[in-house]
Amino acid sequence: MNWNTQFADRTALSRRSAVRELLKLTAQPDMISFAGGLPAPELFPVEAIKAAANEVLTEIGGPALQYGETEGVGALRDWVAAQFSRARFTVRRENVVIVSGAQQGLDLLGRVLLNDGDLVAVENPTYLALLGAWRPLGMRFLPVPSDAEGMDVDALEALLAQRPKLVYTIPTFQNPQGTSMSLARRIKLAGLLGAGRVALLEDNPYGELRYSGEALPHLFELTAQAGADGRLQSPVIYSGTFSKVLAPGMRIGWLVADEAVIDKVVMLKQSADLHTSTLNQYITLALLRDGVIERQLPRLRAAYRERRDTMLTGMERHFPDGVTWTRPDGGLFLMVTLPARMDAADVLKRAIAEHVAFVPGEDFHLQGGANTFRLNFSNAQPERIAHGIERLGALLHRMV
Ligand code: PMP
Repeated sequence: MNWNTQFADRTALSRRSAVRELLKLTAQPDMISFAGGLPAPELFPVEAIKAAANEVLTEIGGPALQYGETEGVGALRDWVAAQFSRARFTVRRENVVIVSGAQQGLDLLGRVLLNDGDLVAVENPTYLALLGAWRPLGMRFLPVPSDAEGMDVDALEALLAQRPKLVYTIPTFQNPQGTSMSLARRIKLAGLLGAGRVALLEDNPYGELRYSGEALPHLFELTAQAGADGRLQSPVIYSGTFSKVLAPGMRIGWLVADEAVIDKVVMLKQSADLHTSTLNQYITLALLRDGVIERQLPRLRAAYRERRDTMLTGMERHFPDGVTWTRPDGGLFLMVTLPARMDAADVLKRAIAEHVAFVPGEDFHLQGGANTFRLNFSNAQPERIAHGIERLGALLHRMV
């Protein structure tokens, strides 16, 4: 069988993820990798998860191992609903679906919302795996410039003349730049959304991981309302996940949205995977009830703050003039910009020979970005970060 003639045309629209391919190379033990988006494994609450699994299997037993509802475990949906309710509006269980990692929610939403040829406005650059998930749908991305204050909302407003169906944004500690949308821009964007100019998908996996600066309201809470019938009405679909605050291997995420959106997503999810792991949902719920995630957050913030600061201090000391970078208040990443004539992929080849890895920025971009790269600061220990940045700085001095 020649399988190459058997594949559906849409597979030609998919590209291999540069990040995944790179992660293979960086698996060698002596590699200092700033490439992946991995949390620090030594901070996973392993003992607490062991205890929670034991508790769930003892107290719930069979039903925790049984098929479950596609929407997710009711009590976990209620927990999410309570987190997102405000005095002005109530989020109900019907507004929540539990998904197998935020990534599944993004994938299902693309298929629920987008027709061939539809336009989606996104920050340039944006999350690589969103581009990868949605490209096969035959839709088109409309790049919106972004800077230290996040997506340029004035530029977005001008682009609305092209009638994008949706805006996709990571407003807080963006992947790949680490930057956040300012309060002024959030308020202006909420105005555009409230006026019904466009719908928006808010992807917020990193919002809880703040190390400096003031907390910012999410776009969902700025725009949601109670309708005349008391039901939630929102121009924003919110995507959340426990991956970065608990452990990505659990694969537990959620969407909060109008019931109509949740219904469609649930219909599609049913044929995608029936439901998200029942056992992992119950374990997550037990961890929430026992306060494990609440206690985990300060530990993560302290450790990642130190790692971020180690990286930034090292860059100040070792990176040559002409190289600039973002200074995130949270999240897992920052982005470096090299002089315009340089290609980050060339730098990577030489960096790998020096046992340091990062992800070139071009694949995150819809326009430009060949002279940029993303650095992750959550995965490596501070001493390794300091070493890696020193080596990378020495290499950049030779190349710039
Ligand atoms: N959105 C963004 C912006 C991300 O960076 C990631 C994880 N890298 C995801 C979504 C997916 O997260 P999850 O592990 O919950 O699928």
